Amino acid sequence: MALTDFNLNEGRYMGLMEKLIGETEFLQDNPPKFVPQEDRAIKHLMDLLTPHTIENGGPLKVDHVTFVEGRGNLLLEYDSEGAEGTVAFVGSHLDVVPANPETWERNPFKLTVEGDKMYGRGTTDCLGHVALITDIFLQLAEKKPKLKFKVVSVFIASEESTAIPGVGVDKLLETGRLDHIKNGPIFWVDSADSQPCMGTASCCMWTLRATGRLFHSGLPHKGINSVEFGMDAIKYIQDKFYKEFPPHSEEERYKFATPSTLKPTQVACSEGSINQIPPWAEIKGDIRLTPFYDINVCIEKMKGYIKEINDDPTILEGRGPCSKYVISIPEGDFRGKLELSIEGDPFKGIAVNLDSPAFAHLHTSTAEVLGESKPYSITGSLPLVGDLQEAGYDVQICGYGHSSVYHGDNEYCSLSVMKDAFKILCGLLSKYNK
Ligand SMILES: [Zn+2]
Repeated sequence: MALTDFNLNEGRYMGLMEKLIGETEFLQDNPPKFVPQEDRAIKHLMDLLTPHTIENGGPLKVDHVTFVEGRGNLLLEYDSEGAEGTVAFVGSHLDVVPANPETWERNPFKLTVEGDKMYGRGTTDCLGHVALITDIFLQLAEKKPKLKFKVVSVFIASEESTAIPGVGVDKLLETGRLDHIKNGPIFWVDSADSQPCMGTASCCMWTLRATGRLFHSGLPHKGINSVEFGMDAIKYIQDKFYKEFPPHSEEERYKFATPSTLKPTQVACSEGSINQIPPWAEIKGDIRLTPFYDINVCIEKMKGYIKEINDDPTILEGRGPCSKYVISIPEGDFRGKLELSIEGDPFKGIAVNLDSPAFAHLHTSTAEVLGESKPYSITGSLPLVGDLQEAGYDVQICGYGHSSVYHGDNEYCSLSVMKDAFKILCGLLSKYNK
Protein backbone atom coordinates (compact mmCIF):
# COMPACT_ATOMS: atom_id res chain seq x y z
CA MET A 1 0.00 0.00 0.00
CA ALA A 2 1.37 3.42 -0.99
CA LEU A 3 2.04 5.95 1.74
CA THR A 4 -0.23 8.44 0.01
CA ASP A 5 -3.14 6.04 0.52
CA PHE A 6 -2.68 5.96 4.30
CA ASN A 7 -5.38 7.68 6.36
CA LEU A 8 -5.47 8.58 10.03
CA ASN A 9 -7.10 5.87 12.11
CA GLU A 10 -9.59 8.23 13.76
CA GLY A 11 -10.89 5.90 16.44
CA ARG A 12 -7.43 4.93 17.59
CA TYR A 13 -6.25 8.53 17.45
CA MET A 14 -9.13 9.76 19.62
CA GLY A 15 -8.59 6.89 22.05
CA LEU A 16 -4.92 7.73 22.44
CA MET A 17 -5.71 11.43 22.80
CA GLU A 18 -8.13 10.67 25.59
CA LYS A 19 -5.42 8.76 27.46
CA LEU A 20 -2.71 11.38 26.86
CA ILE A 21 -4.82 14.41 27.76
CA GLY A 22 -5.96 12.50 30.86
CA GLU A 23 -2.33 12.62 32.07
CA THR A 24 -1.70 16.31 31.48
CA GLU A 25 -2.15 17.34 35.09
CA PHE A 26 1.08 15.39 35.67
CA LEU A 27 2.78 16.64 32.53
CA GLN A 28 2.69 20.33 33.47
CA ASP A 29 6.14 21.85 33.21
CA ASN A 30 7.07 24.85 35.31
CA PRO A 31 9.57 23.86 37.99
CA PRO A 32 9.79 23.89 40.91
CA LYS A 33 5.99 23.97 41.21
CA PHE A 34 5.34 21.57 38.34
CA VAL A 35 7.89 18.94 37.34
CA PRO A 36 6.41 16.72 34.64
CA GLN A 37 6.50 12.93 34.60
CA GLU A 38 6.77 12.30 30.87
CA ASP A 39 6.81 8.52 31.38
CA ARG A 40 3.09 8.73 32.15
CA ALA A 41 2.50 9.68 28.50
CA ILE A 42 5.08 7.19 27.24
CA LYS A 43 3.22 4.34 28.98
CA HIS A 44 0.18 4.89 26.75
CA LEU A 45 2.32 5.08 23.64
CA MET A 46 4.04 1.84 24.62
CA ASP A 47 0.70 0.09 25.10
CA LEU A 48 0.05 0.62 21.39
CA LEU A 49 3.60 0.25 20.09
CA THR A 50 4.81 -2.80 22.04
CA PRO A 51 3.04 -5.42 19.86
CA HIS A 52 4.99 -4.06 16.87
CA THR A 53 8.50 -3.93 18.32
CA ILE A 54 11.38 -5.96 16.89
CA GLU A 55 11.41 -8.00 20.13
CA ASN A 56 7.83 -9.01 19.40
CA GLY A 57 8.45 -9.81 15.75
CA GLY A 58 7.41 -6.42 14.37
CA PRO A 59 9.40 -3.85 12.41
CA LEU A 60 9.60 -1.03 14.99
CA LYS A 61 12.65 -0.16 17.02
CA VAL A 62 11.43 1.55 20.16
CA ASP A 63 13.92 3.17 22.51
CA HIS A 64 12.86 4.65 25.83
CA VAL A 65 15.79 6.91 26.72
CA THR A 66 15.81 8.31 30.22
CA PHE A 67 18.30 10.67 31.81
CA VAL A 68 16.17 11.62 34.81
CA GLU A 69 13.90 9.08 36.47
CA GLY A 70 10.29 9.23 35.25
CA ARG A 71 11.16 11.75 32.57
CA GLY A 72 11.88 9.70 29.49
CA ASN A 73 12.20 10.48 25.79
CA LEU A 74 10.90 8.02 23.20
CA LEU A 75 12.74 7.23 19.98
CA LEU A 76 10.96 5.30 17.23
CA GLU A 77 12.41 3.84 14.07
CA TYR A 78 10.77 2.05 11.16
CA ASP A 79 13.23 0.24 8.96
CA SER A 80 12.12 -1.79 5.98
CA GLU A 81 15.03 -4.01 5.02
CA GLY A 82 18.15 -2.43 3.66
CA ALA A 83 17.00 1.15 4.03
CA GLU A 84 19.64 3.84 3.84
CA GLY A 85 19.43 7.27 5.42
CA THR A 86 16.67 8.72 7.56
CA VAL A 87 13.73 11.09 7.55
CA ALA A 88 13.03 12.23 11.08
CA PHE A 89 10.15 13.83 12.96
CA VAL A 90 11.58 15.50 16.04
CA GLY A 91 10.42 18.06 18.57
CA SER A 92 6.95 16.85 19.42
CA HIS A 93 7.08 16.89 23.18
CA LEU A 94 5.49 15.08 26.07
CA ASP A 95 5.31 17.94 28.58
CA VAL A 96 2.76 20.77 28.56
CA VAL A 97 2.57 24.31 29.90
CA PRO A 98 0.54 24.64 33.12
CA ALA A 99 -3.21 25.18 32.91
CA ASN A 100 -5.41 26.91 35.47
CA PRO A 101 -8.78 25.10 35.63
CA GLU A 102 -10.42 28.25 37.04
CA THR A 103 -9.88 30.22 33.86
CA TRP A 104 -10.88 27.38 31.53
CA GLU A 105 -14.44 26.71 30.49
CA ARG A 106 -13.68 22.98 30.41
CA ASN A 107 -11.52 20.64 32.44
CA PRO A 108 -8.05 21.20 30.92
CA PHE A 109 -6.87 17.79 32.10
CA LYS A 110 -9.52 15.74 30.34
CA LEU A 111 -10.23 15.40 26.63
CA THR A 112 -13.54 17.06 25.73
CA VAL A 113 -14.78 16.47 22.20
CA GLU A 114 -17.24 18.97 20.74
CA GLY A 115 -17.89 18.38 17.06
CA ASP A 116 -14.57 18.58 15.25
CA LYS A 117 -12.79 20.17 18.20
CA MET A 118 -10.81 18.31 20.82
CA TYR A 119 -10.27 20.42 23.92
CA GLY A 120 -7.64 19.92 26.58
CA ARG A 121 -4.18 21.10 27.62
CA GLY A 122 -1.64 19.80 25.13
CA THR A 123 -4.03 19.13 22.25
CA THR A 124 -2.35 21.78 20.08
CA ASP A 125 0.96 21.89 21.94
CA CYS A 126 2.02 19.16 21.53
CA LEU A 127 0.33 15.84 22.39
CA GLY A 128 -1.90 16.10 19.33
CA HIS A 129 1.30 15.74 17.31
CA VAL A 130 2.62 12.92 19.47
CA ALA A 131 -0.58 10.93 18.86
CA LEU A 132 -0.48 11.81 15.15
CA ILE A 133 3.08 10.59 14.62
CA THR A 134 2.42 7.50 16.75
CA ASP A 135 -0.44 6.60 14.41
CA ILE A 136 1.89 6.98 11.41
CA PHE A 137 4.30 4.48 13.00
CA LEU A 138 1.51 2.06 13.87
CA GLN A 139 0.37 2.11 10.27
CA LEU A 140 3.91 1.67 8.98
CA ALA A 141 4.17 -1.36 11.26
CA GLU A 142 0.84 -2.76 10.09
CA LYS A 143 1.20 -2.11 6.35
CA LYS A 144 4.97 -2.54 6.09
CA PRO A 145 5.63 -0.40 3.00
CA LYS A 146 9.08 -0.83 1.47
CA LEU A 147 10.93 2.46 1.93
CA LYS A 148 14.33 3.61 0.76
CA PHE A 149 14.95 5.30 4.10
CA LYS A 150 14.33 4.79 7.79
CA VAL A 151 11.55 6.79 9.38
CA VAL A 152 12.59 8.09 12.78
CA SER A 153 10.69 9.96 15.44
CA VAL A 154 11.96 11.52 18.64
CA PHE A 155 9.35 12.46 21.25
CA ILE A 156 11.06 14.67 23.75
CA ALA A 157 10.77 15.49 27.43
CA SER A 158 11.23 18.88 29.02
CA GLU A 159 10.54 21.20 26.10
CA GLU A 160 8.46 23.86 27.82
CA SER A 161 10.99 24.87 30.45
CA THR A 162 14.75 25.27 30.52
CA ALA A 163 14.84 25.34 34.33
CA ILE A 164 16.02 21.72 34.62
CA PRO A 165 18.64 20.92 31.96
CA GLY A 166 19.84 17.48 30.93
CA VAL A 167 16.40 15.85 30.56
CA GLY A 168 15.34 16.19 26.94
CA VAL A 169 16.71 16.87 23.50
CA ASP A 170 19.69 18.85 24.79
CA LYS A 171 20.96 15.69 26.48
CA LEU A 172 20.02 13.47 23.53
CA LEU A 173 22.14 15.70 21.30
CA GLU A 174 25.01 15.82 23.78
CA THR A 175 25.10 12.03 24.26
CA GLY A 176 25.09 11.28 20.53
CA ARG A 177 21.57 9.83 20.50
CA LEU A 178 20.68 11.98 17.49
CA ASP A 179 23.83 11.27 15.47
CA HIS A 180 22.07 8.69 13.30
CA ILE A 181 19.62 11.27 11.91
CA LYS A 182 22.21 13.87 11.02
CA ASN A 183 22.40 12.98 7.35
CA GLY A 184 18.69 13.18 6.69
CA PRO A 185 16.15 15.96 7.10
CA ILE A 186 14.60 16.75 10.45
CA PHE A 187 11.01 17.95 10.53
CA TRP A 188 10.44 19.71 13.84
CA VAL A 189 6.73 19.15 14.44
CA ASP A 190 5.74 21.73 17.03
CA SER A 191 4.58 24.89 15.29
CA ALA A 192 0.96 25.54 14.31
CA ASP A 193 -1.55 26.43 11.62
CA SER A 194 -0.56 23.70 9.14
CA GLN A 195 1.70 25.82 6.90
CA PRO A 196 5.47 25.34 6.71
CA CYS A 197 7.31 27.61 9.11
CA MET A 198 10.46 29.11 7.57
CA GLY A 199 11.84 31.05 10.46
CA THR A 200 11.70 31.76 14.17
CA ALA A 201 13.38 34.41 16.29
CA SER A 202 16.16 34.31 18.79
CA CYS A 203 14.79 35.31 22.15
CA CYS A 204 16.28 36.56 25.39
CA MET A 205 14.49 37.81 28.49
CA TRP A 206 16.05 40.54 30.57
CA THR A 207 15.52 42.54 33.75
CA LEU A 208 16.75 46.10 34.13
CA ARG A 209 16.91 47.45 37.66
CA ALA A 210 17.12 51.22 38.01
CA THR A 211 18.26 52.53 41.37
CA GLY A 212 17.61 56.17 42.32
CA ARG A 213 17.23 57.98 45.62
CA LEU A 214 14.22 57.98 47.91
CA PHE A 215 12.92 61.40 48.91
CA HIS A 216 9.75 63.37 49.60
CA SER A 217 8.25 64.26 46.27
CA GLY A 218 7.70 67.86 47.48
CA LEU A 219 11.49 68.17 47.39
CA PRO A 220 12.09 66.34 44.12
CA HIS A 221 15.51 67.91 43.56
CA LYS A 222 16.83 65.86 46.49
CA GLY A 223 15.68 62.54 45.06
CA ILE A 224 16.49 60.51 41.96
CA ASN A 225 13.31 59.20 40.42
CA SER A 226 14.01 55.58 39.50
CA VAL A 227 10.80 55.27 37.47
CA GLU A 228 11.74 58.21 35.27
CA PHE A 229 15.34 57.04 35.14
CA GLY A 230 14.32 53.53 34.07
CA MET A 231 11.90 54.84 31.43
CA ASP A 232 14.49 57.19 29.97
CA ALA A 233 17.06 54.42 30.00
CA ILE A 234 14.72 52.11 28.07
CA LYS A 235 14.11 54.86 25.52
CA TYR A 236 17.87 55.31 25.09
CA ILE A 237 18.42 51.53 24.78
CA GLN A 238 15.60 51.14 22.27
CA ASP A 239 16.80 54.03 20.10
CA LYS A 240 20.26 52.47 19.91
CA PHE A 241 18.88 48.98 19.33
CA TYR A 242 16.63 49.95 16.43
CA LYS A 243 19.54 51.77 14.78
CA GLU A 244 21.87 48.79 15.09
CA PHE A 245 19.33 46.04 14.40
CA PRO A 246 17.06 47.53 11.73
CA PRO A 247 14.76 45.50 9.46
CA HIS A 248 16.96 42.99 7.64
CA SER A 249 16.76 42.46 3.88
CA GLU A 250 16.21 38.70 4.35
CA GLU A 251 13.05 39.21 6.42
CA GLU A 252 10.95 39.82 3.33
CA ARG A 253 12.02 36.58 1.65
CA TYR A 254 11.20 34.63 4.81
CA LYS A 255 7.92 36.55 5.26
CA PHE A 256 8.56 37.63 8.82
CA ALA A 257 5.55 39.61 10.05
CA THR A 258 7.80 41.95 12.02
CA PRO A 259 11.49 42.86 12.20
CA SER A 260 13.49 42.45 15.40
CA THR A 261 12.26 44.10 18.59
CA LEU A 262 13.57 45.00 22.03
CA LYS A 263 10.86 46.08 24.41
CA PRO A 264 9.70 46.28 28.02
CA THR A 265 6.77 44.02 28.94
CA GLN A 266 6.56 44.36 32.75
CA VAL A 267 7.24 47.10 35.28
CA ALA A 268 7.50 47.06 39.06
CA CYS A 269 8.81 49.54 41.62
CA SER A 270 9.31 50.12 45.31
CA GLU A 271 6.06 50.30 47.21
CA GLY A 272 5.99 53.60 49.04
CA SER A 273 3.35 56.25 49.17
CA ILE A 274 2.42 58.14 46.04
CA ASN A 275 4.16 61.28 47.29
CA GLN A 276 7.55 59.65 47.51
CA ILE A 277 10.23 59.61 44.85
CA PRO A 278 10.62 55.84 44.26
CA PRO A 279 14.13 54.54 45.05
CA TRP A 280 14.04 51.61 42.63
CA ALA A 281 12.19 50.38 39.58
CA GLU A 282 12.48 47.10 37.78
CA ILE A 283 11.64 46.76 34.13
CA LYS A 284 11.46 43.36 32.45
CA GLY A 285 11.27 42.68 28.76
CA ASP A 286 12.61 40.68 25.88
CA ILE A 287 14.70 40.83 22.76
CA ARG A 288 13.24 39.08 19.74
CA LEU A 289 15.83 38.98 17.04
CA THR A 290 15.26 37.66 13.53
CA PRO A 291 17.74 34.86 12.81
CA PHE A 292 19.85 37.01 10.50
CA TYR A 293 21.38 38.69 13.54
CA ASP A 294 23.39 37.11 16.35
CA ILE A 295 21.63 37.18 19.72
CA ASN A 296 24.88 37.04 21.70
CA VAL A 297 26.23 40.05 19.85
CA CYS A 298 22.96 41.85 20.57
CA ILE A 299 23.13 41.09 24.29
CA GLU A 300 26.68 42.49 24.42
CA LYS A 301 25.44 45.63 22.64
CA MET A 302 22.67 46.06 25.18
CA LYS A 303 25.19 45.79 28.00
CA GLY A 304 27.22 48.45 26.18
CA TYR A 305 24.27 50.87 25.99
CA ILE A 306 23.75 50.45 29.72
CA LYS A 307 27.42 51.03 30.45
CA GLU A 308 27.24 54.29 28.50
CA ILE A 309 24.42 55.46 30.78
CA ASN A 310 26.11 54.26 33.97
CA ASP A 311 29.34 56.01 32.95
CA ASP A 312 27.43 59.27 32.62
CA PRO A 313 23.73 59.28 33.54
CA THR A 314 23.48 62.92 32.42
CA ILE A 315 23.37 61.71 28.79
CA LEU A 316 19.69 61.02 29.53
CA GLU A 317 17.60 64.11 29.15
CA GLY A 318 15.55 63.84 32.34
CA ARG A 319 12.01 65.03 32.72
CA GLY A 320 11.60 68.67 33.59
CA PRO A 321 13.78 70.93 35.72
CA CYS A 322 13.78 68.78 38.89
CA SER A 323 14.34 65.38 37.35
CA LYS A 324 18.05 64.66 37.35
CA TYR A 325 19.91 61.37 37.48
CA VAL A 326 23.05 62.85 38.99
CA ILE A 327 22.59 65.27 41.89
CA SER A 328 24.88 67.27 44.12
CA ILE A 329 23.12 68.44 47.27
CA PRO A 330 24.28 69.40 50.75
CA GLU A 331 23.65 65.82 51.87
CA GLY A 332 26.15 64.53 49.30
CA ASP A 333 26.61 63.48 45.65
CA PHE A 334 24.25 60.83 44.28
CA ARG A 335 23.80 59.17 40.92
CA GLY A 336 21.35 56.72 39.45
CA LYS A 337 22.54 53.22 38.61
CA LEU A 338 21.37 50.57 36.17
CA GLU A 339 21.86 46.81 36.49
CA LEU A 340 20.99 44.32 33.78
CA SER A 341 20.37 40.63 34.26
CA ILE A 342 19.69 38.11 31.53
CA GLU A 343 17.49 35.13 32.30
CA GLY A 344 19.00 31.78 31.33
CA ASP A 345 20.49 31.02 27.95
CA PRO A 346 18.90 32.74 24.98
CA PHE A 347 16.94 30.69 22.43
CA LYS A 348 18.61 30.72 19.04
CA GLY A 349 16.36 31.54 16.10
CA ILE A 350 16.43 29.70 12.84
CA ALA A 351 16.04 30.49 9.18
CA VAL A 352 15.43 27.12 7.58
CA ASN A 353 17.33 26.23 4.43
CA LEU A 354 14.89 27.19 1.67
CA ASP A 355 17.09 25.53 -0.95
CA SER A 356 16.90 22.14 0.75
CA PRO A 357 14.79 19.40 -0.90
CA ALA A 358 13.24 18.93 2.56
CA PHE A 359 11.67 22.37 2.35
CA ALA A 360 10.51 21.76 -1.23
CA HIS A 361 8.90 18.44 -0.24
CA LEU A 362 7.09 19.92 2.76
CA HIS A 363 5.91 22.84 0.64
CA THR A 364 4.62 20.56 -2.15
CA SER A 365 3.00 18.03 0.15
CA THR A 366 1.20 20.81 2.04
CA ALA A 367 -0.10 22.27 -1.22
CA GLU A 368 -1.24 18.86 -2.46
CA VAL A 369 -3.35 18.24 0.63
CA LEU A 370 -4.57 21.76 1.51
CA GLY A 371 -4.77 23.25 -1.99
CA GLU A 372 -2.12 25.84 -1.20
CA SER A 373 1.05 26.21 0.81
CA LYS A 374 1.81 29.56 2.36
CA PRO A 375 5.06 29.32 4.33
CA TYR A 376 5.51 31.93 7.05
CA SER A 377 7.93 33.07 9.72
CA ILE A 378 7.29 34.44 13.18
CA THR A 379 9.27 36.12 15.91
CA GLY A 380 8.06 33.46 18.28
CA SER A 381 10.79 31.10 19.40
CA LEU A 382 11.42 27.38 19.57
CA PRO A 383 14.13 25.96 21.77
CA LEU A 384 16.98 23.96 20.26
CA VAL A 385 16.14 24.30 16.57
CA GLY A 386 18.85 26.95 16.13
CA ASP A 387 21.36 24.80 17.99
CA LEU A 388 20.53 21.76 15.85
CA GLN A 389 20.95 23.75 12.65
CA GLU A 390 24.25 25.10 13.94
CA ALA A 391 25.32 21.51 14.63
CA GLY A 392 24.76 20.74 10.93
CA TYR A 393 21.22 19.33 10.87
CA ASP A 394 18.79 20.27 8.07
CA VAL A 395 15.90 21.39 10.27
CA GLN A 396 12.48 22.23 8.81
CA ILE A 397 9.45 23.22 10.89
CA CYS A 398 5.75 22.40 10.72
CA GLY A 399 2.81 21.92 13.06
CA TYR A 400 -0.91 21.34 12.96
CA GLY A 401 -2.48 22.83 16.06
CA HIS A 402 -3.87 26.36 16.25
CA SER A 403 -1.62 29.27 17.17
CA SER A 404 -4.62 31.16 18.55
CA VAL A 405 -4.77 28.79 21.53
CA TYR A 406 -1.05 28.09 21.90
CA HIS A 407 -0.36 28.14 25.66
CA GLY A 408 -3.84 29.62 26.08
CA ASP A 409 -7.05 28.75 27.90
CA ASN A 410 -9.47 26.35 26.22
CA GLU A 411 -6.72 24.93 24.04
CA TYR A 412 -7.98 22.62 21.32
CA CYS A 413 -7.01 20.95 18.08
CA SER A 414 -9.26 19.83 15.25
CA LEU A 415 -9.73 16.27 14.08
CA SER A 416 -10.19 17.37 10.45
CA VAL A 417 -6.92 19.32 10.59
CA MET A 418 -5.10 16.34 12.09
CA LYS A 419 -6.47 14.11 9.32
CA ASP A 420 -4.98 16.52 6.78
CA ALA A 421 -1.77 16.65 8.78
CA PHE A 422 -1.54 12.88 8.57
CA LYS A 423 -1.88 13.08 4.77
CA ILE A 424 0.71 15.87 4.57
CA LEU A 425 3.31 13.95 6.59
CA CYS A 426 2.71 10.67 4.74
CA GLY A 427 2.84 12.54 1.42
CA LEU A 428 6.09 14.09 2.54
CA LEU A 429 7.57 10.65 3.32
CA SER A 430 6.44 9.32 -0.06
CA LYS A 431 8.48 12.01 -1.83
CA TYR A 432 11.64 10.53 -0.38
CA ASN A 433 10.75 7.15 -1.84
CA LYS A 434 10.86 8.32 -5.45
ZN1 LIG B 1 5.31 22.89 21.83
